[in-house]
Amino acid sequence: MKRIALTFLLTLLSAQAGRPNIVLIYMDDMGYGDIGCFASTKNRTPVIDQMAREGMRFTDFYVTSGVCTPSRASLLTGCYPRRLNMHVDQNDKWVLFPSARKGLNPDETTIAEILKKQDYTTACIGKWHLGDQPDFLPTKQGFDSYFGIPYSNDMGRKHIPLPLLRDEVVIEAPIKQEPITRRYTEEAVSFIEQNSKKPFFLYLPHTSVHLPLFPGKAFAGKSKNGKYGDWIEEVDASTGAILKALKDNGVDENTLVIFTSDNGSNGNNGGTNKPLKGSKGTTHEGGMRVPCVMRWPGKIPAGKTCREVVSTLDLLPTFAALAEGQLSKERKIDGHDIRDLLFGKPGAKSPHQAFFYYHTTQLQAVRSGKWKLVLPQAEKLTGWSGKEKDSPLQLFDVSTDLGEKTNLATAHPDIVKRLMVSANDAREDLGDGKDSGKGQRPAGWVKEAKPLLKTE
Ligand code: MG
Repeated sequence: MKRIALTFLLTLLSAQAGRPNIVLIYMDDMGYGDIGCFASTKNRTPVIDQMAREGMRFTDFYVTSGVCTPSRASLLTGCYPRRLNMHVDQNDKWVLFPSARKGLNPDETTIAEILKKQDYTTACIGKWHLGDQPDFLPTKQGFDSYFGIPYSNDMGRKHIPLPLLRDEVVIEAPIKQEPITRRYTEEAVSFIEQNSKKPFFLYLPHTSVHLPLFPGKAFAGKSKNGKYGDWIEEVDASTGAILKALKDNGVDENTLVIFTSDNGSNGNNGGTNKPLKGSKGTTHEGGMRVPCVMRWPGKIPAGKTCREVVSTLDLLPTFAALAEGQLSKERKIDGHDIRDLLFGKPGAKSPHQAFFYYHTTQLQAVRSGKWKLVLPQAEKLTGWSGKEKDSPLQLFDVSTDLGEKTNLATAHPDIVKRLMVSANDAREDLGDGKDSGKGQRPAGWVKEAKPLLKTE
């Protein structure tokens, strides 16, 4: 009997030891070339660069949209935004605005919900942007706790001042923005201190570096790149405080830490997507390919670079596998388990036979391996700069042609044909323009939306 109890205890302990803590640090509008290990010459990011030396850099890491809301919907669910009907707001605008009737459908399964079932403690600290009505808030989507600004930091209005929430309650409005990164960091460190005894998931979507720029006092004027550089450098220091907390609490070796961004930089506030073409709000590489670093001592090989196509879509299935959790059987997801790439398995390849670039309602491009096919559009949609023009069918080798300059469509009709088949599959499944796809599911809706206001 004793032996059985001992075996049971050991099995339980080894299962616990196998399930890592996960810290997901997610920047807002930070460009491909904005950190040292992705060739920034302006912003000093010694902590993130060290993370890259101790872990893995992903050069071909994609978000599913060039703007906040759809990109975040994918990150947490492993689904393309159109599958969830989170690709536009109720007025076909790019992102959700305060008091929107729409939000991430609580029936969808988030990373937090999967991990919670595996006995993880879950926290969201930072920018939410998946709906501000009570049904849609983080605490209704698998997070035990929430602290942060629920949307972009430029969305404060006279009648609805920019709010700071604790769980579902507005605790400050208007919030003073300058100390926000320091406050998020303090919350994150305290969460780690209080929850290091059992597995935890910390989702830290920074308000930084979305406009308007608000670096903390201690960092203001210190960088070589104005307020933008100051704020990036503050986040680097914040990341250092989080890594230190993991070490101080003895969980560094059993924690996967990821640092990435929700979309590219708009390119005119001090940020850059170089050497990629384009900016936030476009399907050029600069809008949707973001810097990504992952670190897990002893598990992810140190100092390696992964050049395979990987996406935020893959985080949910990968985290589920690491936590021995279950994916929903009824609901299709678009991401894949990328543990082989993460652990540096020789010969591991991208699980994406095709990756789709949507801009709001339109499917604009497809990537497969090194090839990116840019699809001609029947209806023009302007990008972030307002200058985007309709374009002919183009084929680029984006493994080398990062500026998307040399159109190889005529030279490779077979590749064009193959990628067109993939594009048509996506149209049928996820939809395109006004045509719905058969795999789309409804977003969350409330009959009447109330503004988020301080109650006392
Ligand atoms: Mg953003």
